[in-house]
Amino acid sequence: MDHVEGSASTNKYIPVSSVTSGEGKEVAPGLYCYTSQIVNLCFVEDQKSKNSWVLVDAGMPDCAEKIIAEAENRFGKGTQPKAIILTHAHFDHIGGIIGLLNQWKVPVYVHSLELPYVTGKKDYPKPDPSVEGGMVARMSFLFPNEAINLDKHVHPLPEDGTIPELPEWRWLHTPGHTEGHISLFRETDRALIAGDAFITVKQEDLYSVITQHLEISGPPRYFTPDWTEAWKSVKKLQSLNPRTAVTGHGRPVSGEWLEENLAKLAREFDQIAIPDYGKYVDNNHLEQ
Ligand SMILES: [Zn+2]
Ligand SMILES: [Zn+2]
Repeated sequence: MDHVEGSASTNKYIPVSSVTSGEGKEVAPGLYCYTSQIVNLCFVEDQKSKNSWVLVDAGMPDCAEKIIAEAENRFGKGTQPKAIILTHAHFDHIGGIIGLLNQWKVPVYVHSLELPYVTGKKDYPKPDPSVEGGMVARMSFLFPNEAINLDKHVHPLPEDGTIPELPEWRWLHTPGHTEGHISLFRETDRALIAGDAFITVKQEDLYSVITQHLEISGPPRYFTPDWTEAWKSVKKLQSLNPRTAVTGHGRPVSGEWLEENLAKLAREFDQIAIPDYGKYVDNNHLEQ
């Protein structure tokens, strides 16, 4: 009953991992970042109510068991989140979701513009292996772009910016990488979950991904179709002046490093983030 079926985006194991895979870290009160191979996901606790938490993003394909084990380690056997929030639904952020929903009967929330990609209506643009960057970009033709269908399990986020089950947090629309991409922000300590709006590793480069070499970067190039919007989203996030950030890829960052590098990225996005060539740059590169 109620069994949820996957697609290539949730079934296809991708054999690449970083040195931090399987590690978890509390980066701010109640904000726990866990690395699934080459992508981060978060357990976010509602600070005001005991044992109430939400999962943000769902890792690489085939990782549900690892997420459940990590959650049980942290919150106790049989724990389940109150909800799952997706920053967006690329394969590396929803990989475990089918396994999770078959164990946890909880609602999933996405931005309304992301709904077509999680209700089987629309595939993401194909990855661009020709984009400037490196070996991960070259191998991105392996990365699935097919929509999944979460059907009645998925709901649009409330339009007023609130997040179900997380009263201290707000979501912000940060499109560019995908149409309905969101980031999550907690004003009280200026903690940010940025998704792939910006990241802290050069995700196109295999060596950087494996070693998790720290470097401010725009969204993963092989999957980003709208660079004009992506730049605006980085400026929006920088204007929040976050103190701590968990990004979709790369190590969590905070303090001066975050402040300086995010300001630099917002200023020099055309130099740092936008690739010199690739199939999604030629038309909108000069519009800034
Ligand atoms: Zn992505
Ligand atoms: Zn990603």
